[in-house]
Amino acid sequence: MTTGDSRRGRRAAPSSLKEDTIVADTASGQARRRFLRLAAAGLAALPLCGGCLVHRARAQERVAEDNELAQRLGYKHDASEVDPNESPGYQEGHICANCRLYHGAEGDEWGPCDIFGGMLVNTNGWCMSWIEREA
Ligand code: SF4
Repeated sequence: MTTGDSRRGRRAAPSSLKEDTIVADTASGQARRRFLRLAAAGLAALPLCGGCLVHRARAQERVAEDNELAQRLGYKHDASEVDPNESPGYQEGHICANCRLYHGAEGDEWGPCDIFGGMLVNTNGWCMSWIEREA
């Protein structure tokens, strides 16, 4: 019996070690796989983030009135300078601040506009793409 117990004991120890090793291998394998997945995702997202940064930096620029699109849309930083003969669609009181495409924060002088790809327009500006903001 003693021999049997000791044999069982000897057999049990390597088996236990083997299970621990398997558990450790499985855990480290999972960690390694997770790391590789995250690394792959990070590398895949890198060009996108780089693009976002370039877009974001460009988006924070102010639209110049002599910008080609601004000229085509009759954009003015100050809506009171809009010539109604050149822009018959203009109506007094229509300004970027009350346009649906304007996303400036309350009180900001400049804010992003969808028409200009997020570039900044003046809150008192106007262009012929003006759309009434929903209440
Ligand atoms: Fe201003 Fe609206 Fe024209 Fe953009 S689309 S420039 S927010 S009037």
